[in-house]
Order: sequence, then structure tokens, then C-alpha cells
Amino acid sequence: MMSSQMHAPRASIALVFAVALSVVCPAAQTRAVKTLDIYVVDVEGGNATLFVSPSGESVLIDTGNAGAAAIRDAERIMAAVKDARLDRIDHLITTHWHGDHFGGMAELAARVPIRNFIDHGPNVQPGAAADEFLQRTYPQLYAKAQHTVARPGMKIRVAGLDVLVVTSAGETIKAALAGAGKANPYCASFKSGENNAEDPMSVGTHVTFGKFRTVHLGDLTKNKEFELMCPNNRIGTVDVLLGLHHGVDTSNSEVLVHALHPRVAIMNNGTRKGGQPDVMKTLHSSPDLEDVWQMHFSQLSGQEYTVPGMFIANLLDEPSAAMPVLPISAPPPGPDSPPAPVHNGIAYWIKVSAQADGSFTVTNGRNGFSKTYSAGPAVR
Ligand SMILES: [Zn+2]
Repeated sequence: MMSSQMHAPRASIALVFAVALSVVCPAAQTRAVKTLDIYVVDVEGGNATLFVSPSGESVLIDTGNAGAAAIRDAERIMAAVKDARLDRIDHLITTHWHGDHFGGMAELAARVPIRNFIDHGPNVQPGAAADEFLQRTYPQLYAKAQHTVARPGMKIRVAGLDVLVVTSAGETIKAALAGAGKANPYCASFKSGENNAEDPMSVGTHVTFGKFRTVHLGDLTKNKEFELMCPNNRIGTVDVLLGLHHGVDTSNSEVLVHALHPRVAIMNNGTRKGGQPDVMKTLHSSPDLEDVWQMHFSQLSGQEYTVPGMFIANLLDEPSAAMPVLPISAPPPGPDSPPAPVHNGIAYWIKVSAQADGSFTVTNGRNGFSKTYSAGPAVR
């Protein structure tokens, strides 16, 4: 054990050195004020969310829609890649094997190098498009890169960020994050939900940058939200809740949303997908929630449940004169279902710029509306 007399001079020498460094080394100062930038890209009710660390390393979660929309969505992601001045994507996480999440991958990989392909493992919901992609296309894409099957508790190495997988392949982390783990008061009133086979497999990712925290759980459904968050809240609180399964009501239970205490939620909904009344009610009754930002107006919200237009990033190719007040119910899928309103024109992102002190700014790419949220308390 060193005596306390020995500590004092060392501390002051260290302080002098730090002051000298900050004077003679402006580059270090410049890096210190850089932000974590998150681009929530409009892929029409699919998902594509790009994280850019101050170090310049990047993580993309999902690649938008398949089929005729694949080129459109890959180009929309590339606009964000170029805005962030990236020459590669370091890690691509595909949350699950639905076409609105992996659909633009091959088109994107043809436009920018991808170093590490991360997924939950095999498809568990057989379907021609996903199965063919996994057999023929995907192995070719990662042949010259890295391929990683994610497991809860796995860290994804990104300089400047702490990136942790919290769910994958139906499993959740068992240990609480630092500072988390308290009993979750919302568990007692949880009602189980319905789901298909692939949504609950979603790779969920928690990102920490200094004091700023955010989580993106792909399309994780209610029963898995319960497994992740009950009886103890293993995640703790977050500043920004991303994705929200497009705002679909098979996800977004109070055990998740209310327990996370997000200050901002950013929903990747489509023109007639998500933004459903029950989800909007859960969000707007969530403790400490300040704002919901949406990719689109959703017909399923109507004016009754939508947020003010300045928080909405995208309009329609043929703008409607007025939004109906009442929400509609989603028509049953099938050939007789009327097509959702189309938006193939210019797409705008919602961008989050987070500081290491926990403060962050959210900007609507369409109208330039921007709002800064001051650093929150460490535990809420
Ligand atoms: Zn989806």
C-alpha cells in the first residue's frame, strides 16, 4: 500500500501533464467532442439503423426491404453511409430473417464493403425468399468477410462504443447490465401476446456511449420482452428506444417500454404499418417520455394517435390533403387488400447525435426540426 503522501504529487503531475496535452494536442480535443451519430433510415416499414462511432467505426442494424424495393432501400442506406463519410460498414446485424429486415442486403453489399455479418443463426420460419437467400446468396456475401452468430452477452467490438447483444435466437441475457437489475413493477400486470416464429428470434442490441444509452430489439415480441425484463429489469433505463417493431402491437408491452423509461422513442413504422393505437397509448403514458418520433404518418394511427407532423420524417408520393382523424384497422393481408400509400420519392432520415455526457439532439431530415435533450440522471 502506498502512503497518501505519495499520491498527492503523482496526481498533480498527472494533472499538469493532462493540461499540457490539451494545449499542445488539439486533435485529442477535437475527438473528445465528437458524437455518436445514429441514422434511422426510411425503408418504408422495414428497418435500417446506422450507428457511427466517434472513432469512425460503424454498425448497421438491418438493410430494409426485399424484391423491387431492395435497390431503393440500399440507396437510401447509402445516402446515410455517404453523409457519415464511411468507406465501409464494420458490422451488419441482421435482426431476423424477414424480408423487411434482410431484403436490401445483397444490393447494399454491392455498394459498400461489409466486414462482419452478424445474425441469430438459421431461419426458423420457413419461407421461399428467406430460405433461398440463406442458401444461395448470404454465404457468398460473407465468404470474404467475417460471419458471426450472435448470442446474448456477446460484445461487438466497436472503438468508442460499448455494444452488447442482449437477445438472440430466442435467448436473453441472464445477468443485469451495470446499474440495472431492480425488480420490474410492470411484470405483475403483463399479458402475453401472439407472435410468428422469426420475430422472437430477433438480435437485440444495447449501445452505450459515455453516459448515453440506447437499445434496438429488432422485432422482439411481447413474450420475449417479458423474458428479458422480468422479474428483474436487466437493461435498466435508456435515453432513446429505437425501432419498436415498427410500432406494431404484438410488441411494446409496458414491461419493456415503461420499465426502460426512454426519454425519446423513434419508431420505424410504415404508411400503413405500426403506429397502432395501443402502442401509441403505451408510449405516451410511459414515465419520463418526452417525445415520439416517427418515420411516417401511419393510417393505423390516424390523427387521433399520431404525433405532430414536425416529429414525422416522411410524407407520401401523392400527399393527401388531410389525415383522417380516426385510425383504421389493418386490412387482412392478401391479394384483395388495398395497397398501402406509396412513398418511393425522396426519403428522409431521423438523426440522433449523442454526446458522451448523455445529452443528445434529434433532427428530422425533412423539415430540419431539431430538439436537444439535456443529459438525464444516471438512474431514473
Ligand atoms: Zn419488421
